[in-house]
Amino acid sequence: MNLAELGEFGLIEAIRRRARMSHSAWRVSIGDDAAVLTPPRGQELVLTTDAVVEGVHFRWRTTDPRSLGHKALAVNLSDVGAMGARPLGFLLTLALPRGIDGSRLDGFFAGLFALARASHCPLVGGDITRARDFAATITAIGAVPRGRALLRSGARPGDRLFVTGSLGGAAAGLALLERGRVTSASERALARRQIAPRPPFSVGGRLVRLRLAHAAIDVSDGLAQDLGHVLDESGVGARLELERLPLAPGLTRAAARLGLDPLSLALSGGEDYELLFAAPPRAPSAAVLGRRLQCRVTEIGVVTRQHRLVLLRAGRPVERKLSGFQHFKGHSRGSEK
Ligand code: ADP
Ligand code: MG
Repeated sequence: MNLAELGEFGLIEAIRRRARMSHSAWRVSIGDDAAVLTPPRGQELVLTTDAVVEGVHFRWRTTDPRSLGHKALAVNLSDVGAMGARPLGFLLTLALPRGIDGSRLDGFFAGLFALARASHCPLVGGDITRARDFAATITAIGAVPRGRALLRSGARPGDRLFVTGSLGGAAAGLALLERGRVTSASERALARRQIAPRPPFSVGGRLVRLRLAHAAIDVSDGLAQDLGHVLDESGVGARLELERLPLAPGLTRAAARLGLDPLSLALSGGEDYELLFAAPPRAPSAAVLGRRLQCRVTEIGVVTRQHRLVLLRAGRPVERKLSGFQHFKGHSRGSEK
């Protein structure tokens, strides 16, 4: 892709060709002033937006373009899925530095459209602007049966807390990348979790269909922080059993090499993009849930009436400073990103 040759309209045409994908919900997509969506009957729409900005969210030094395209969409699909919705489509606003390498753009679109196809989520419009640094802002649209979206505010005392997949891997991967120390296969797998996360974006929709969750959130800022959001919004507290946390494969070893605490990475490391959910006491075991949801599920704690987070080890409360833990109303909610 040669941007100087293509110009803005040539680039839009190239995107339009690559974006072609049949989808019944869209009557009009790229090429008109705006896209036209026919909302699925009996469903509500959910909308979310997330940007990846050069120098803020990624560096070309540690990211390949294909993974970046994948991640730009993946983080949005994660939010759609965490509402219990399935994706319908997305808009893409690109900020491109003058003279950007055409192979970077090609790679970006290869990763982006591979995930768009795999998730049946077409690109239906967008915008292109010049900028000093590269940025890709995606707005994703999803649908969920009316009244059934999984909110942060739905957790109730007695609910059991579950998390998909494993934790701490993306933060360990980032630390390994930043220090240029990705050598073994298991370290490469951790780095992949940071560079090209694979959110279980279909799991929220399955939870809705199975009527199996009261609340959900995707773990993007660290488990403690994101659980804190659920507790705040639901006006409840929780007990977390530390030894139950599903540590990412290779995390303990990588953390030892890095001089970091694996449990801190699992509790406070960002960008795992797993799904944390609260299910009623009658919910089946984690093993049964895992089969029904088609992913690994671990039960990690319980929701309590009193509005505080208690960490337990061997059944006993432990004190732990949770870095990046910025919740519970009244405290600062700023983000470091
Ligand atoms: P306008 O001047 O009306 O904003 P544009 O020239 O920006 O129109 O866009 C023309 C068409 O191309 C629109 O349908 C728009 O959604 C689409 N488009 C522009 N940029 C992108 C992009 N980055 N990705 C997908 N579609 C795009
Ligand atoms: Mg425009």
